[in-house]
Amino acid sequence: MSTTKYIFVTGGVASSLGKGIISASLAKLLQARGFKVTIQKLDPYLNVDPGTLNPYEHGECYVTDDGAETDLDLGHYERFLGVPTSQANNVTTGRIYQSVIDKERRGDFLGKTVQIIPHITDEIKRRVKILGKQGQYDFVITEIGGTVGDIESLPYIESVRQLRYELGTQNSLVVHLTLVPYLNASGELKTKPTQHSVKVLLENGVQPDILVLRTEHELSDDIKRKVALFCNVANDSVIQSIDVSTIYEVPLKMQEQKLDEVALQKLGIQVKKDVKIKPWKDFVQKVKNPQKRVKIGLVGKYVELPDAYKSIAEAFVHAGAVNSVKVDLEYIHSEELTADTVTDKLKDLKGVLVAPGFGSRGISGKLEAVKFARENNIPFLGICLGMQCAVIEFARNVLNYSDANSVEMSRTTTKPVIDLMEEQKGVTEMGGTMRLGSYPCEIQKNSYAYDAYGVVNIDERHRHRYEFNNKFINQFAEGGMKSTGINPDTGLVEIVEIPSHKWFVGVQFHPEYKSTVLNPHPLFVAFVRAAAEE
Ligand code: GLN
Repeated sequence: MSTTKYIFVTGGVASSLGKGIISASLAKLLQARGFKVTIQKLDPYLNVDPGTLNPYEHGECYVTDDGAETDLDLGHYERFLGVPTSQANNVTTGRIYQSVIDKERRGDFLGKTVQIIPHITDEIKRRVKILGKQGQYDFVITEIGGTVGDIESLPYIESVRQLRYELGTQNSLVVHLTLVPYLNASGELKTKPTQHSVKVLLENGVQPDILVLRTEHELSDDIKRKVALFCNVANDSVIQSIDVSTIYEVPLKMQEQKLDEVALQKLGIQVKKDVKIKPWKDFVQKVKNPQKRVKIGLVGKYVELPDAYKSIAEAFVHAGAVNSVKVDLEYIHSEELTADTVTDKLKDLKGVLVAPGFGSRGISGKLEAVKFARENNIPFLGICLGMQCAVIEFARNVLNYSDANSVEMSRTTTKPVIDLMEEQKGVTEMGGTMRLGSYPCEIQKNSYAYDAYGVVNIDERHRHRYEFNNKFINQFAEGGMKSTGINPDTGLVEIVEIPSHKWFVGVQFHPEYKSTVLNPHPLFVAFVRAAAEE
């Protein structure tokens, strides 16, 4: 396609309606028609990135290849499209203001008063258009975080208004997602909140082209026509998004109602018949019809909010489908695990995953979980802090280093088996200062990791400050825990395994970030296979 087309996805009525999934679904359908698509998220909060946010606030922090700490919606984008995202795909108000203020300090505005309009909106528009300028995409889909009417969202909606004017209606499109609530008492579906939400958009100068209505019940044609009439959109442009059992069914539901075709027609693009969606359909079939179930425990301290482990949960869906099993993921609070409770809480599990995390809260419970899995030959996967816990547990209980610890938990340990990296020692700022993004790893043949990946050289994403301390590498190997993956450039240990165990793997990196629907992550696939084996 000669010019890049821009699609904006806004939301109204309530948050958490699934704008990210709708954006990713539309992107998937366009991709299935042979178009090149990328998705971007604009977040209205003032943090420069979500890296400094507690997972309880916005859920998991997702990390891209280029080391950007981003919103978890980028995880959905990658899982749906199978195309890597980057720093440019997630922009926050904090980052926008930071660049504008940096420019002001440099004197770039030549004495002018710096204002939200035009300076902040110009910066927002620049960030949207950067992706289109790269020339590699037919479509840039931009999801605007928050809900219309929020004070924080205003500059973004104003930027959408200006962009529509500048780009023209043939090159841009607005999809607005709202909620149609069901009133149990009267048995009615209510469209008024949607009408109000569209009015707010109109007050801000933006007329949506397509409305996607989130609902728990089927919307009749009458209701859709009513919404179309009151909101100034064509009848075929009111699309229902009904609750489904798996988010991966949403693209298929959207396709049934021709969301992609309506979007293409509005953008003046010829709608061809050829849609390559079969592998996706096969995947959804497998997710919905598992041949058996397997219970795996996820031990972490943020389990009250499952979004804190979004990518891990999704990686299990992908890996389950390949193995024709459904993984019943049981979230287990690490603070509830003690020597007394651990057996009771973990005895029914076929696999144990100890999750990533920061700080000492909940560590003793994680160590109990590792010990239980190790001693009872239960397949085990430790990710990042989970791998570090596996190392500490092994040092304490097998090598008999009773004082072994990570320097993160104890500055004074005499056996710092997990230590601060040299280059981290002088760092005092928290934001963006960890080992972040993609690093190479060389895998030793004759290991669980090699069996899973089937190749020697891999790249995986990182987000941590502490590392396995190589001073102890020989003691661990002699004791029965081997380093089977090493960073070829730095010698840092990236994978540890216990070869005498059924399946025991700890990884310093985050495999979950790279698992996608059509490319499930090999370590998760192997872990689920081991857990499902009788
Ligand atoms: N807190 C550990 C570190 O910084 C692990 C981080 C993580 O699990 N992502 O090294």
